[in-house]
Amino acid sequence: MPGQSSTEVKCVKCKHVYDAEVIDHIDLSEDHDLLKNLRTGKANRVQCPKCRKVEYLNRSIVINFEPENLIVMYDPAARKKAVRENHMREYESVIGFNETLEEIGSETEFKIVTKIEKLKDMISGYVKAHG
Ligand SMILES: [Zn+2]
Repeated sequence: MPGQSSTEVKCVKCKHVYDAEVIDHIDLSEDHDLLKNLRTGKANRVQCPKCRKVEYLNRSIVINFEPENLIVMYDPAARKKAVRENHMREYESVIGFNETLEEIGSETEFKIVTKIEKLKDMISGYVKAHG
């Protein structure tokens, strides 16, 4: 199961504010159904309960390319260097949490991807190798 959380969404059409389930984390070896949506940047589809307007949220998703030692953070908003550095620090603080994570971290590459085209290429490569 993908890692999910709840977030507040303000409808672009009628301005109604509602809670929606969003995906924060995807494991490619388990979440096959999400591959297609992810490749088109439509992983986080939400719908306004009031006016039925559908939106695709532009939020970051962490993607685990298991069994490759690669973790990708897709964040369309991380074009700024400061944002990317912040993600990097967060990742380092997570893997610095204990020895086991540190060991995993030393064997795992962490990449930040901001462009959906780049993410598509990476997922296509993954599907070819493991699909
Ligand atoms: Zn609405």
